[in-house]
Amino acid sequence: MQAPFPILMYHSIDTRCAPAYRRWTVSPSRFAGQLACLKSLGITPFTISDMVARMRAGTLPERAIALTFDDGLADFARHALPILRQFEFPSTLFVATGYVGGTAEWLAELGEGDRKMLDWAELSALKHFGVELGAHTHTHPQLDLLPVQEAEREIALSRQLLERHTGRLITSFAYPHGYSTPAIRGMVHRMGFTAVCRVADALSRPGEDPLALSRIIVTEQTSDSELARLVRGRGERVSPPLDSWKIRAWRDYRLVRSKLVGMTGRPA
Ligand SMILES: [Zn+2]
Repeated sequence: MQAPFPILMYHSIDTRCAPAYRRWTVSPSRFAGQLACLKSLGITPFTISDMVARMRAGTLPERAIALTFDDGLADFARHALPILRQFEFPSTLFVATGYVGGTAEWLAELGEGDRKMLDWAELSALKHFGVELGAHTHTHPQLDLLPVQEAEREIALSRQLLERHTGRLITSFAYPHGYSTPAIRGMVHRMGFTAVCRVADALSRPGEDPLALSRIIVTEQTSDSELARLVRGRGERVSPPLDSWKIRAWRDYRLVRSKLVGMTGRPA
């Protein structure tokens, strides 16, 4: 039986960020170091769609890995892409389409509301560089707190805009903040998405639900030895259960809070 494998989750690749956003920012130099480490470990990198296709076919090689980037920040093209190209790594970029060409307004609470986003021309050009695009909703809401129709509109609009502006077929999706429910996963399945990511901060495994793939949060502090451990399939957590009582309790808390103080956004 094949070992668990890491699907890595990045957000910003940049030298500067607001203090509250540090967990979601990796410097370009450390990012290059992490890719050099992965390369030396003999990994085989995939886009998330290719990884799921290999999982389905039972042809995923040992030391498979996927690199994913959430949100569609401008620093992806400026900092991450040149390093990805240098190491010849494919990747998947999940885009919150409501902010394309503008700024990451939903990050205002973390002091990053002015962080620049990619524009449509930049997103379209990524097809030349092994970058898969995936939907990530339109306004980056906590989907599990929304009425079902509103959640569906968020997901559908995100895909529709990506397809219209880039001419590419969009089959992958990432839940903003990683939050989903059985109803939302069913909706995403009916909409035809085939490779869908949550967060979980855990390793994925062959046979994991492709509508809720576990990802590992990579930070500036993620060391080479930790990456080596993950690539060898040794993580503390592997594909944790969906909809556990802890997850449900956290959702209830967020629901109450959102009613008291309004919806707030955090990255992921
Ligand atoms: Zn996000």
